[in-house]
This record gives sequence, C-alpha cells and structure tokens, in this order.
Amino acid sequence: MSDLGKEYHIAGVTVRKVQEQYLRQVAPSFLYPAATVEEIEAIEPGLAAADMDDERETLVVSIHTWLVTTPDHVILIDTGSGNDKERPRNPGFHHQSIPFLERLHHAGVEPGDVDFVINTHLHVDHSGWNTVLEHGKWVPTFKNARYVFPRAEQEYYSSTASHNDVNIPSLGVYEDSVWPIIDGGLADFIDSTGGSFLDRFTFLPTPGHSIGHMSVLVEAGGEAAIFGGDVMHHPIQVERPDLNTVFCEFADQATRSRRRILELAADNRALYFSTHFPGSSAGHVTRNGNRFRWSYA
Ligand SMILES: [Zn+2]
Repeated sequence: MSDLGKEYHIAGVTVRKVQEQYLRQVAPSFLYPAATVEEIEAIEPGLAAADMDDERETLVVSIHTWLVTTPDHVILIDTGSGNDKERPRNPGFHHQSIPFLERLHHAGVEPGDVDFVINTHLHVDHSGWNTVLEHGKWVPTFKNARYVFPRAEQEYYSSTASHNDVNIPSLGVYEDSVWPIIDGGLADFIDSTGGSFLDRFTFLPTPGHSIGHMSVLVEAGGEAAIFGGDVMHHPIQVERPDLNTVFCEFADQATRSRRRILELAADNRALYFSTHFPGSSAGHVTRNGNRFRWSYA
C-alpha cells in the first residue's frame, strides 16, 4: 500500500496525507462506550469497506498528517504520535520506530522545508512528530517552522492539575513534544476565539474533545476545506454525532462542536479532511435535515 494518499486541489492549496499508522481491531464498545451493540450494528451496513476490519466487527482508525502546500508555504496539520517516545501507560505508542520522515521525503518535503506546524490539540497522536530524539534530547523536528498551538491547550496540559482518567494516554506529551518547541522559541499561540491565519486559513474553536481543540477552515475561490482534528474519530459519528469517544474530555462541548462542524461542512460543500477516518480519510458530508451522511473522496 502506498504511504501517500491522493492529492487534493482545493481552495488554492494542495493537500496530501502522509500516513503514520493504522490502528486495527478497535472495538466499537471501547471507542464509543455509550453505544450499544445494537446501535453499532444498525450503522455497520452503511460503513465503507475501509472503515472496518475484514470480519466487520472491529474498526480501523488512521493516524496521519495532512501536508498542505499553498503557493507560499508548506504546512503540516497534526503530527501523529512520533518515534522513541516514552509512553509506558500507552503501550500502542511506546518506543515506536516508524519511517514517517521517509514518507514525508517521498512526498517531496524535507523537515527543513516546513514553514508551519499546526496542532489541532495537544493529545498524544497529534503532536508526536513535533520533536525527535537527538543525542538523548528532544529537539524540534522542523527547525525552520513556526509551530502553532491553541493557547488553552498549552495552558491546560502544562499543569499536572489537568491530568485525569481520560487524558492519561497523553501523559508525557507536553514534556517531550510541546515544551521543547516553546523552549526553542518556535511556538505561536492561537487564542480561544480562533481567527484568521495566513491568507486563507481560519481557526475555528471546536472545544470538547479537548479543552482548546481547534479545527481549521481553508477558503478561497468559492471552495472550502475543513481539517476537523478530533471532532470525529470515525464515520460512525457522522451518522451519530451524539456519540463521544472514550478520549473526549468534555462530553457536552464535544457533541456541540461535532454538530457545528458537520453543519458547516455540509452547508458549505466543504471537503472534510479527517484526522482518524481510514481509507482516503477525506470526503464530503451531506445533510438531510438533522441527519448527516459521509462519502469518501
Ligand atoms: Zn486523535
């Protein structure tokens, strides 16, 4: 399988997926604790082949980076889980060795070429490649880039008072993947109101999955694209926006933000770039009243 997704041209930018890994055999009852077996079975026939493992009982989840190239800049949106990280409480991400930077190279991008790194939020699977281990020290991977973090995320995760049962999988992330960027003077912060960025980007506050989670809207020439971060984890949530994942820290806000992004994507015919949907990970949301449907593009 190719490590690079197809190339999308929209709103004056080029978008390509750089795969980090797939998580397979993810039990729906684990990811969506509030959903009953019957509820998942009702959705299953409408899911694409790529959405589930072969026996159609467990889910496939992707972890990847979106490489966005504008006429002026090279931008990465979310940076996977990274190599060599100490994640003893999260064995799936512990001491990884993934040729992610080689895949980026195959996409024609060297670390020094990257102008901006955007983290939609500061969870373990979104900020990992911010840093690499060099001579026993965590250093910025993209040394010429400005890294853009939601300010509320930085404030929250920099304090041990924020540690809770839901964000346990991200313990250690601030110290090895966020602080070295700030310490190196490469970090910029987006306030919780969001707002415009560069010439065609807008940060949309979509809190809930995490405290300061941001989605990114790209608009130009009558076209729109949305990078929704962890507003959704799987196409199941297009069908059932009321379902939060086990990783959503603020449940009611997460549901509201999900519905807002689904409405925005459908009403603007935006191309939606998901952070965890498998397959191409990109597609369209259509709407029939309050019901939404997903189709891959
Ligand atoms: Zn995630």
